[in-house]
Amino acid sequence: AKTWTLRKHFVGFPKCSDFEMKEEQLPETKDGEVLFEAVFLSVDPYMRPYSAVHMKEGNVMIGAQVARVVESKNPSFPVGCYVVASTGWRTHSISDGKDLQLLLTDWPESIPKSLGLGTIGMPGLTAYYGLMEVCQIKDGDIVLVNAAAGAVGSVVGQIAKIKGFKVVGSAGSDNKVAYLKQIGFDEAFNYKTVSSLEEALKKCSPEGYDCYFDNVGGQFSSVALEQMRRFGRIAVCGGISLYNDTTKQTGPYVQTVMVFKQLRMEGFIVGRWKHKDEETLKQLMAWVKEGKLKYEEHITKGFENMPAAFMGMLKGENTGKAIVAV
Ligand code: NDP
Repeated sequence: AKTWTLRKHFVGFPKCSDFEMKEEQLPETKDGEVLFEAVFLSVDPYMRPYSAVHMKEGNVMIGAQVARVVESKNPSFPVGCYVVASTGWRTHSISDGKDLQLLLTDWPESIPKSLGLGTIGMPGLTAYYGLMEVCQIKDGDIVLVNAAAGAVGSVVGQIAKIKGFKVVGSAGSDNKVAYLKQIGFDEAFNYKTVSSLEEALKKCSPEGYDCYFDNVGGQFSSVALEQMRRFGRIAVCGGISLYNDTTKQTGPYVQTVMVFKQLRMEGFIVGRWKHKDEETLKQLMAWVKEGKLKYEEHITKGFENMPAAFMGMLKGENTGKAIVAV
């Protein structure tokens, strides 16, 4: 098996020299075990903050993959079946099956299996739970989402549209803004080129926002909170603008605005609703099949390009889900 390890802890933005590819000899599979090979691997923002807190130098990079079972001594996972596995950045892995999930059984040929890492996978679930469980979206709400052209954000906006809400999104290029309009966002803007974020948010929704799905944090949030309506709800999903920051984080200064507008702000991790995942994945799949939920993928070819794909995603090169195809 080939693996990518964390050679050096990231300081600021990750560099090529922070990663090291290694070869590993896997043992024979035992009774109850399966050997699988990665077909698609995911590169996700959380890997950046996670590495700082939970990883040691030399560890294999954490991450999920869609893999094909190539050897099986476990009847639940026959040879040829596809699984979602969280075994990290590795081409081949062995598992006793406990941490493996089969892809939904009636996965149509016409839908790429890589969506099991995106729209019909963890990011899709994140979007769904953030909107439905954390924002508890309700009639008449106006939704704001940032990093809107990415894996999570693009699903947030589309679910909000499926449910009949007004949606505003921000993203980091004009092409991404055009993409957001194409998939049904009511308003979208390029946060890198607007002269005033406050004015852009006001222009897109003069009446303000009821739900703010925050993928970015930092300065964007400080400004966005001021644009919330009374009893607004903020789903704190991520803070990608801060992940590579080497300075101590201060703000957003939330107390005054939260009191006067009676806002509710809640951080969440997608795994909280694990018991609902199967039913939610089926819903996401149904929307994809009906053409109501569109997907885009930014595919990098070759396991050797995992670090480049990861750094590219952090820089914003991806529209839709960033994926590596082996
Ligand atoms: P994306 O597909 O959205 O990729 C990351 C995007 O972030 C880039 O394409 C880039 O787009 C944007 N970005 C990068 N730097 C900045 C910056 N300084 N300011 C604003 N935007 C920036 O990733 P995901 O959809 O996978 O993840 C989105 C967020 O959701 C992340 O914060 C992630 O940590 C979080 N998350 C949280 C989960 C949870 O359980 N709470 C689960 C999954 C994801 P652009 O061109 O627009 O700048």
